[in-house]
Amino acid sequence: MAEVLVVVEAGVKKVTLEMLTIARGLGEVSAVVFGEADQAKLAEFGAAKIYTASGADVLDHGAAPKATAVAELVKRVSPAAVLLASTQEGKEIAGRLAVKLDNGLLTDAVDVAADGTATQVVFAGSTIVKSKVTKGLPIVTIRPNSTTPVASAATPAVEELTVAVSDSDKLTTVVERVAEQKGSRPELTEAGIVVSGGRGVGNADNFKLVEELADLLGGAVGASRAAVDSGYYPHQFQVGQTGKTVSPQLYVALGISGAIQHRAGMQTSKTIVAVNKDAEAPIFELADFGVVGDLFKVVPQAADEIRKRK
Ligand SMILES: Cc1cc2nc3c(=O)[nH]c(=O)nc-3n(C[C@H](O)[C@H](O)[C@H](O)COP(=O)(O)OP(=O)(O)OC[C@H]3O[C@@H](n4cnc5c(N)ncnc54)[C@H](O)[C@@H]3O)c2cc1C
Repeated sequence: MAEVLVVVEAGVKKVTLEMLTIARGLGEVSAVVFGEADQAKLAEFGAAKIYTASGADVLDHGAAPKATAVAELVKRVSPAAVLLASTQEGKEIAGRLAVKLDNGLLTDAVDVAADGTATQVVFAGSTIVKSKVTKGLPIVTIRPNSTTPVASAATPAVEELTVAVSDSDKLTTVVERVAEQKGSRPELTEAGIVVSGGRGVGNADNFKLVEELADLLGGAVGASRAAVDSGYYPHQFQVGQTGKTVSPQLYVALGISGAIQHRAGMQTSKTIVAVNKDAEAPIFELADFGVVGDLFKVVPQAADEIRKRK
């Protein structure tokens, strides 16, 4: 069975486990790891082989050396497909890889069938497109939160790659790394619970209420585009078509109307709870549980009740 290469970004994110799950339907899964990654986790989700590449030449010059490493590996092992994450880095590596191999590329897929047909969900979730790469092998980037990761243990063989990094791969260089101050909240796209606020929250200060509920539930904070555009909350927390896609067990929408572009980023959440003072708000069409009311009255009561039950 041909190998399927899954390109792993630093650490092992939820999307990595999703890619491993999808890749198992395409062939024998090989993870390509740049730098450090939790190899036990990769094994748990079916990586039969782990290629590692490290050292400053590979890690300190952005996506270019990584694309070179994957391209060399593709030429050597002739995989059935290459899957990468639809993240900034994953897409940059994918684009460079496709150019290097003179190969087709599909981005933002939510699934890849055994014959390489990729499924993309477009126009804010209203249209499903099936596409195939017509030149070369399927190189496909997978959107985070596309599928539920399923474990399938393997015992991987590990191979250290020697990558010939040329000067043209070193046209940018990392001059400093500053670790982001991480709060105690989970990462938005990985969180099991997300509490989001919209324009109805009213101002940046009021977002403390959204944060308080998220913290009580152990969740992440999200926001609608109207909320981030109004400066209530930072842009990296935007959920939706032009923001992050989330698919938590519980999504709480506070003062969000439920525009199609917002839904595109959260409609696959398992349970959706909405608080909105307008009974006609479209978010209620989607919600499993809805409260028609003023969020400034409802949220403090919910918070008190949660505190009592803790
Ligand atoms: C190309 C494009 C891409 C877009 N991408 C995104 C995206 O990624 N994400 C996104 O979110 N949007 C996106 N949008 C914008 C989207 O169309 C909506 O404008 C936006 O989602 C509205 O945000 P909102 O629900 O917070 O605000 P509004 O639509 O203004 O809704 C606010 C809601 O709060 C309720 N409310 C007000 N006060 C209270 C209160 N005290 N208590 C309870 N409820 C209250 C109101 O009844 C109302 O329903 C995009 C638009 C376009 C054109």
